[in-house]
Amino acid sequence: MPFLHSHKPLCCNSIGCGERVREEMGRETHILVLPFPLQGHINPMLQFSKHLASKGLKVSFITTTSVRNTIHLQLPSSVAIQYISDGYDDEKQAESLDDYLRRFQDVVSKTLADFIVQKQKADDPPKLLVYDSVMPWALEVAKGLGLGGASFFTQSCAVNAIYYHLNRGHFEVPLGGPAMLSLPEMPLLGIDDLPSFICDDGAYPALLRLVANMFSNFRDADWLLFNTFDKLEEQQMVKWMMASQWPIKTIGPSIPSMGYDDQDYGLSLFSPSAEAACINWLDSKPTASVVYASFGSLACLSEAQMEELAWGLHNATAAAHFRFHFLWVVRASEEAKLPANFVDETSEIGLIVNWSPQLRVLAHPAVGCFMTHCGWNSTLEALALGVPMVAMPQWSDQATNAKYIADVWRVGLRLGADDKGVITRQEIGVRIKEVMEGERGIELRKNAMRWRELAREAVQEEGSSDSNIEEFVSGL
Ligand code: UDP
Repeated sequence: MPFLHSHKPLCCNSIGCGERVREEMGRETHILVLPFPLQGHINPMLQFSKHLASKGLKVSFITTTSVRNTIHLQLPSSVAIQYISDGYDDEKQAESLDDYLRRFQDVVSKTLADFIVQKQKADDPPKLLVYDSVMPWALEVAKGLGLGGASFFTQSCAVNAIYYHLNRGHFEVPLGGPAMLSLPEMPLLGIDDLPSFICDDGAYPALLRLVANMFSNFRDADWLLFNTFDKLEEQQMVKWMMASQWPIKTIGPSIPSMGYDDQDYGLSLFSPSAEAACINWLDSKPTASVVYASFGSLACLSEAQMEELAWGLHNATAAAHFRFHFLWVVRASEEAKLPANFVDETSEIGLIVNWSPQLRVLAHPAVGCFMTHCGWNSTLEALALGVPMVAMPQWSDQATNAKYIADVWRVGLRLGADDKGVITRQEIGVRIKEVMEGERGIELRKNAMRWRELAREAVQEEGSSDSNIEEFVSGL
């Protein structure tokens, strides 16, 4: 579709301006986008959908009926949400993770195919499926019905490359031999730097298979889209992937307000009821005086760890004679692990909410650092908004992200655990203070601001990610 290139000024940086482009294009190119139904997968793929719609494509964003009741929507009309069954309607439960994933694949393969056929019959044929890379079988469904396929990777290039090497047998689990793993274009990785599915001694075999399988048929995909940006992983990974003949396109950071006029992703699986409370509370705090702590949508901390974290936050902020405060997201399912009376005892220095408008929080001038579990979206959001981090990875890809945050991008400090595997309140207190007020903090903030600029450059018109998206759109 070279039309889009030759009419670039039409693609103004505003979600919704795609309407005008569509009118001029005549028949719309219809694209389907299918994320795995988890918040951390929905967010970047939804943002990418908005981006495609703004460039004149018709986008159907497909999610599953099982999450329909928990969804809070605030989306531009340019992206249509569609629901298909994943076999877990009516609150059906799976017996195990393996069981869940097997049934999910069986049912979605069928309901996705039905959806595509229905659109084809209605003379609204989709041209391409952008599918979550953890669902490689969706490519077969798409190709079988005559569609193209683009695999969307929601984790970093580095993490994906580790899973690729695992899939190709370049190393084995459990890891034997040398304590450090040496992989192309990556820093030496210790056991603690690897994704937990690899080093947790087979605790999640189903998830390890899921991530290694991303590479079972990836060379059959027409596009490989990565939610990262060239400068961030250029030296490390992007060049290596391209040299290995992967048709990779970096399209990130896939985050609202990066060159667009939206502030939120627009689809939350958690109630946004505390949004106004968070922002009003932050408005009342001095610049860079708040520690924002959040562990994403899935991580579960042990009760002992929760207690250390609570008092660590308390000690770091109270010891600064109330100059500092904390805003802590404790999901409803984690609340029972808070120490008794903690909320009341700390109400002068802290605010605890079940879910926050994270992007707006990170963009708020009152926030001085982000204590994070290092999920990939949270990491990109902090980098893109220039917020230094205190890294407290929990599982999945987070340890690898923490390694890069601390040692490669130098935008945060990683917390160390004691010999029982618990991160103590002293460690938490010391590191928070280092980032909030120490010399190291100044350096980290400076680095974070540099990444912020580079992230912005990537998504600006003709930046690396924007050009890649243009190329993707015109390639359709
Ligand atoms: N998030 C949010 N409010 C919260 C906590 C998280 O909006 O209180 C969002 C966050 O901005 C990010 C996503 O949820 O986009 C979490 O994704 P991430 O990859 O960081 O972690 P995961 O939840 O997948 O572990």
